[in-house]
Amino acid sequence: MINRILNILKLISEIIAKNDDYNSVLTKIVKLLAKHLNVEVCSIYVYDNSSDSLILAATQGLNKKSVGKVMMHPGEGLTGASFQENKILNISNSYKHPQFMFFKNTGEAKYKSFLAVPLTAGGNCLGVLTMQRIKPEKFSSSILDMAKSLSTQLANLILNAKMLNALSGNNGNGKSNHHVPENRKEQLLLRGIAANSGIAKGAAFIFKSRDFFHTVHHELSSDTEKELAVFDKAIALTKKKTLELEGRALSMISEADASIFHVHLLFLEDRTLLEAIKKEITANRHTAEYGIKIIFQEYQKRFKHLKDQAFREKVMDLKDVLLRLIETVRGMKSGSDGSVTFKNLPEKLILIAEELLPSDLIRMPIDRISGIACEKGGITAHVAILAKALNIPALMGIKEISRKARENDEILMDCHAELIYIRPTEQIKKNFEDLIRSGSLDETLPVDSTPCSTTDGVNITLRANISLICETSLLKKYGAQGIGLYRTEFLYMIRDYLPTEEDQYKVFSRIMKEAEGNEVTMRILDTGGDKPLPYMNFPKEDNPALGVRGTRLLLSREDILRPHLKAILRAGISGKLKILFPMISASSEIRAINKILAEIKDELRKNKIKFAENYKTGIMIEVPSILFDLDKLINEVDFMSIGSNDLLQYIFAADRGNEALSESFQSFHPLFLKILKQAGNAFSGRKDKTLSICGEFAGNPLAAPLLTGAGIYDLSMAPRRIPEVKKTLKMFSSEECRQLLENALKLQTPQEVISLLGKTITDKSRG
Ligand code: PEP
Ligand code: MG
Repeated sequence: MINRILNILKLISEIIAKNDDYNSVLTKIVKLLAKHLNVEVCSIYVYDNSSDSLILAATQGLNKKSVGKVMMHPGEGLTGASFQENKILNISNSYKHPQFMFFKNTGEAKYKSFLAVPLTAGGNCLGVLTMQRIKPEKFSSSILDMAKSLSTQLANLILNAKMLNALSGNNGNGKSNHHVPENRKEQLLLRGIAANSGIAKGAAFIFKSRDFFHTVHHELSSDTEKELAVFDKAIALTKKKTLELEGRALSMISEADASIFHVHLLFLEDRTLLEAIKKEITANRHTAEYGIKIIFQEYQKRFKHLKDQAFREKVMDLKDVLLRLIETVRGMKSGSDGSVTFKNLPEKLILIAEELLPSDLIRMPIDRISGIACEKGGITAHVAILAKALNIPALMGIKEISRKARENDEILMDCHAELIYIRPTEQIKKNFEDLIRSGSLDETLPVDSTPCSTTDGVNITLRANISLICETSLLKKYGAQGIGLYRTEFLYMIRDYLPTEEDQYKVFSRIMKEAEGNEVTMRILDTGGDKPLPYMNFPKEDNPALGVRGTRLLLSREDILRPHLKAILRAGISGKLKILFPMISASSEIRAINKILAEIKDELRKNKIKFAENYKTGIMIEVPSILFDLDKLINEVDFMSIGSNDLLQYIFAADRGNEALSESFQSFHPLFLKILKQAGNAFSGRKDKTLSICGEFAGNPLAAPLLTGAGIYDLSMAPRRIPEVKKTLKMFSSEECRQLLENALKLQTPQEVISLLGKTITDKSRG
C-alpha cells in the first residue's frame, strides 16, 4: 500500500508543479484520486472563513456545475460534521444517517456509501475530502488509510493557496450564488452534553431566563424601617411559597422529598446571608431588592472559587431563591403576588433556556415537556437530575441555543449523539422518524395482558425497570410481571444529602405495595461511574468506571450500606422481595455482603423490628470476571441478572456513554451473543435458580428471540418496551429461537446479525 500512496503523492506533486491555478490543481487531484482509489465520486470542500462555510472546490463524479456553489456551515450535513468534529466518517448508507443532508442538482442521489476525511494542517482543519460510492458498503480500511495519508498533503496545498491569496489581498472568497440546500438557512445543528438520554421532538418553548438581576437598579430607600419590614415579610412569604413548590415537586416525584428545595429553605434561614442583606438595607440605605442583588453578587464570587464543581453549581440554587425573594418583594410593593404563569404552551414542547432553575422546571406543566435544552448547567445540576428522574431527554451546555432557536421552531433532539436540530430539514425529520422506528418503539401497540410464551409454551417473564414510585403505574399499563430492576440510586441522586433509613423505608415500602404482590427486585445503591453522588465527596478517581463503585463502594462505606439494607429488609414485608447486588466482581464480595445482611437481621430481630424473612438474593452479571466463575457462584445466589449496559462496556473496553465508541459497544456482536449463551448454559438444568437480564438489550425486540435461544427466560426492561418484545416472542417457538441464535453465532459482525434478525422477524410477521 505504501507504494501506492507514494505513487499517488508523486502524481499530485507533478500536478502541482505543472499548474499555477489552484482550482485546476484541485480538479486534477480529485480526478486522479477517483481513478486510483477506484471510487465513483471524489470531492474536496474548502473552508471559507468569510462565509463560515465549506464550499465544494472540486469534484469528480458530482455535477461540475455545483463547484463553488454547494456550501454548508460547519456541523451541517455529514461533510460539515466531519469538519466540525475533525473526525473521519465512514458510512455505508448515508441516507439513513440523521446528519445526512441532501443537496439538489449535485447528482449525488444514487451514491449511498460516504467517506469524509478532514484535511488538517498545523492543527487547523481547512477542508474535507469526501468519497462516495453507489454500493451501500463502508469503505475498506486500505482506502481509509490512503485517504488519511493523503489528507495532510492536500491540507498543506490548501494552506499554501490560502496564504498566497491573502498575500495578494484576495480574501479567497469571490464566490457568489452559492447553492443552498433546501431550508439550509433554516436548519441549525448544535451540540450539548447529555444529562439524560433519549430522542425527543417538539416545538421550541423559549424559557425567558428569570435572571432579572440586571433590572434591579441602585436605589436608596426613603424609609429603612419600612424596607426592613417588607424584607422580613418577604422572607416569610418566600418560605411559604418554597414549601408549596416542595409540595408540587413531591406530588410529581415522591422520592425527591422535594429536597431540591431544602437547600432553598436553608438559604432563607441562613443568618449570615440574611444579616448581610439587612446590613445593605440599614447601613447603606439600599432598597431590599438592591440589597439582595449586591449580596448575591458577592456570594457568586465566593462560589466561583469553590473547588468542587457540584458546590459551584449550587450558585444556581442561591440565584433561584434570591430571585424568588425579589419577586416577592416586588409583588408586595406593587400589590401583586409575583407568581409566574404560562399561557399558550404547545402540547409537546422542547424547553429551551439559557439557564433553568429547579423551581422553573417544577412550575412548568411537566407533562408537556418532551425535551430540555439548556445553555448553562452541567450534568450534576439539579435540573439535570430532575430531567433524568422524570425521564425527559435533556442536553446541557448547548452554546447560544436560546438565541439561535425561535419560539415554536421545530426541534429534534438526539441525546445519544448529543445533538439538537433546530428547524430540521425534511430529510433530517424523515431520518429521525426512521431512527425512532428503528428503536422499534411502537407505542400504538395495544396492551396484551395475556402471559408471554413461545408458540411451544415456554413461559417468558417480562418485568419492568423503574427508578421512581410514579413509574409503578406503568406496570399495569404495559403488563409487567413485577419489577426486575428498581434502581435505588435515584433516591440518593435527587437529594443533597444521604436519605435516612426512614426516608428510604417510606419510598421502598410504597414501591413494594404498588407492585401488588408481584416480585420486586431492589438493586442496592449502585453509585459511582456514570452515577455520581456529588454531595458525598468521594475521593476523586481517574477512572470512575473502574473505581470504587456499586457493591465495592458500599462495602467500604458501611455507614451507607447498613441503613440502606435495613430499609430494604423492613420494606420487604409489604411484598415479594428480591435483593440484587450490582458490580459484583468476585465471590468474596457476595460473602461479605451476606455477612452484613445476617448481622442486620440479628439486630432487627433483637430490636423486634419486622422485616422480610423470605427474600431472594442475586447478583448482576456486569463485571466480566464473574463470567469465568458462574458454575460456582450460582450456588451462592438465588438469581443473576445480566447488566448488559455495563457488561458490554467492560467486555469491549468501551465507555458506555462515549458516542465515539458506539461501534465497539455493539450488543449484537456475535462475541457478546456467545457470552449470553454461555451464561444460559450455566443455568440450564438448575430449576431452582433464575437467570434474567435487565440491561437495555432486554428491551430490544430484535434481541428477544436470541435471549430465549440462550435460555434467558426472564427479561426486565423499560415498561413501554414490553408490548413489542412480547409480540415478537409470541411469534417464535423456543426451538426456532435456539436455531436463530446458532445461526447468529456463525456470523462475523453485529450488522450481519441485525439483518438476519430483521429479516427473520419481518418474515414471521408476514406469516
Ligand atoms: C446495566 O449495567 O446493564 C444495568 C442494568 O445497570 P445500569 O444501567 O443501572 O448500570
Ligand atoms: Mg450497570
